[in-house]
Amino acid sequence: MRSDPTDFELIAPGTLHAVVSLLANEPGQWLPIAGGTDVMVQYAAGKLPARKLISIWNLPELRGIEILRGEIRIGAGCTYTELREHNVIAQEFPLLASAARWTGGIANQNRGTLGGNIVNASPAADSLPALLAYEAELIVASIRGERRIPYLGFHTGYKKMNLASDELIRAISLERRFSGYLHYARKVGAREAQAISKVCVAALGRLRDGVIEDVRIAVGSVAPVPLRLTELEEMLKGKTVEPELLQLARKMAAAAIKPIDDIRSTAKYRAAVAGNLVAEFLGQLRDGAKAA
Ligand SMILES: Cc1cc2nc3c(=O)[nH]c(=O)nc-3n(C[C@H](O)[C@H](O)[C@H](O)COP(=O)(O)OP(=O)(O)OC[C@H]3O[C@@H](n4cnc5c(N)ncnc54)[C@H](O)[C@@H]3O)c2cc1C
Repeated sequence: MRSDPTDFELIAPGTLHAVVSLLANEPGQWLPIAGGTDVMVQYAAGKLPARKLISIWNLPELRGIEILRGEIRIGAGCTYTELREHNVIAQEFPLLASAARWTGGIANQNRGTLGGNIVNASPAADSLPALLAYEAELIVASIRGERRIPYLGFHTGYKKMNLASDELIRAISLERRFSGYLHYARKVGAREAQAISKVCVAALGRLRDGVIEDVRIAVGSVAPVPLRLTELEEMLKGKTVEPELLQLARKMAAAAIKPIDDIRSTAKYRAAVAGNLVAEFLGQLRDGAKAA
């Protein structure tokens, strides 16, 4: 059933303090809306439970990308277009730049925000595997102040997360320590853009003397939450990339995920593709080292 606009209230207090004060004073009453690209889809479908919306779009405290010596802090209100066009992100965090490029069309990229992608918590969200691979930290704000939490573990189940109803994500922090790594990103969908992923992988790796020294592999669309394949990562460390290792990695990746059959794909296809992408990443890691 279509929503009746007169049933809804939308306010835009304009400062972070005013927003978090209202969230704290009227617990559970107000739903933050940033770019609205997820919220408005729910609204148009008549499935938006909230009736009171509080705009955080363009809130100055959630804007901008701060470049510090050891980390960058991406305002949660940054759009995909801003991420795509930022030099430091393109050079040092290409997994995130790729995810931004893949997220919907240009109109969606001008409006959709990184904070919205995290809190909307779709298992198929394109930016989340990149945040897992880079071991992002979330800077969360409320009337009580700020806390920093690792993104790994933030999503605790399907659409469940470690965020209180009076908290906002203010920024996402990434450590600047990935030069010398291979950055591997692949989205498998009906098309690369304008399609929801069947499987997406974000991975990072570094060899030393031909041996895997560090590796991080994150996969989306294959479980209720995006996954880091930590058991596989531990198995890979200290090994050289031989055909037998690729076979084992393929099997371990397929076994570690919990894909489902849905309208976009089947569990069997997703498991096979996830294994193939992990093997492709490891092959590139080996070949990149040979070429260097
Ligand atoms: C046509 C179309 C194509 C799309 N394609 C893709 C795609 O390819 N890949 C993909 O991953 N997604 C895709 N999306 C989904 C969507 O664009 C993203 O999830 C986007 O990042 C949501 O951001 P937003 O600012 O619009 O969120 P909103 O719709 O404003 O909010 C989404 C949720 O996040 C909460 N929220 C937003 N910001 C914060 C914050 N800072 N702190 C706390 N809570 C917050 C809101 O309360 C709400 O619950 C698509 C959407 C559309 C309509």
